[in-house]
Amino acid sequence: MQLADRVSQVTPSLTLSITAKALALKAKGVDVCSFSAGEPDFPSPAHVVAAAKQALDDGKTKYGPAAGIPKLRQAIANKLAADNQLNFAPEQIIVTNGGKHSLYNLMMAMINPGDEVIIPVPYWVSYPEMVKLASGVPKLVYTDETSGYKITPEQLEAAIGDRTRLFVLNSPSNPTGMVYTPDEIRGLAAVLERHEQVWIVSDEIYEKILYDGAKHLSLGAVSPAMHDRTIISSGFAKAYSMTGWRLGYLAAPKELIKATTTIQGHSTSNVCTFAQYGGVAALTGSQDCVEEMRQAFAQRREVMFKLLNAIPGFNCPKPDGAFYMFPSIKELGIDSLKFSQQLLEAENVALIPGIAFGMDSNLRLSYATDLATIEKGCDRILKFVKQLT
Ligand SMILES: *Cc1c(COP(=O)(O)O)cnc(C)c1O
Repeated sequence: MQLADRVSQVTPSLTLSITAKALALKAKGVDVCSFSAGEPDFPSPAHVVAAAKQALDDGKTKYGPAAGIPKLRQAIANKLAADNQLNFAPEQIIVTNGGKHSLYNLMMAMINPGDEVIIPVPYWVSYPEMVKLASGVPKLVYTDETSGYKITPEQLEAAIGDRTRLFVLNSPSNPTGMVYTPDEIRGLAAVLERHEQVWIVSDEIYEKILYDGAKHLSLGAVSPAMHDRTIISSGFAKAYSMTGWRLGYLAAPKELIKATTTIQGHSTSNVCTFAQYGGVAALTGSQDCVEEMRQAFAQRREVMFKLLNAIPGFNCPKPDGAFYMFPSIKELGIDSLKFSQQLLEAENVALIPGIAFGMDSNLRLSYATDLATIEKGCDRILKFVKQLT
């Protein structure tokens, strides 16, 4: 069968396939410890679920405006002003089928064939693939543990060229859990302010999941010049444990929102109408649920951080955001895919090889799971590594 060329240019999501394999083992009754899933293990907050149920009862089951219901666009605009010092009118917001879809729509609306998009490595799995699907060229910039896996202003400056269209920043980061400090954000902004043809997309989906006093500063909030060229991509999946709802958004200049709305209007149309009412409840209701989940993650983070660094050959910086650890296994002399496949077979522990994020010397472990699983799983990894050496 002949498929479109674009299919062969992209790789299927490794995170989704490993998660599926672990789930299949579990379904067969195998005692699997899974650190692979990039989602909170909590149920969606009760008041959010109630709002969506109410919307169903009220008959909110019809098509809606492609860009989202006005109430939700307004609530997102209010949130961006209150939490992030970002000024967007509701017309500058589009509600999308998740943060992933936000980014996809954006690439489709902005990228011409050959346009370069600067992506720091390690990156979230989908960034380079989305750029390729939009006929763009991912320009990968490799970071390492010496900078905490963060791109430096010097690296950013060196990567910008005539074809550069967009710079993708994700802080707090998936897969590293690292958070750019406000000073580091300002350092990147100083470079970007000098290059007026470069747009920025700031993926802020983990902004609420921070530890040890880490602060989130949006690139768009640094200066009016940065505000004009920074597109905010976010969603409800991580902070509110609403992964299955498929609810995200973009905030950007009106022209770009119009363009993404046209694309969405011919592809998915509006996001599930009653789900959007849940989104309104999430943003306008009590934020205690976000803090409760954050505190649970904070406790698990301490436990996993200690256990991982006790494994010989593992080097793991302490992440200050999101819910991932990204240890380097360079000293073990085994590539990440082999490590994760053998580990799953030998010890029934699922994690994501760093190669999925462009870095073959690392592993990604999610600690969005219970403490008992973290302890048992890390024990098994230790056992596995001992027989390797
Ligand atoms: C989870 C995630 C998203 C978006 O997820 P959705 O479920 O589509 O909202 C976007 N960016 C990063 C870095 C993520 O980890």
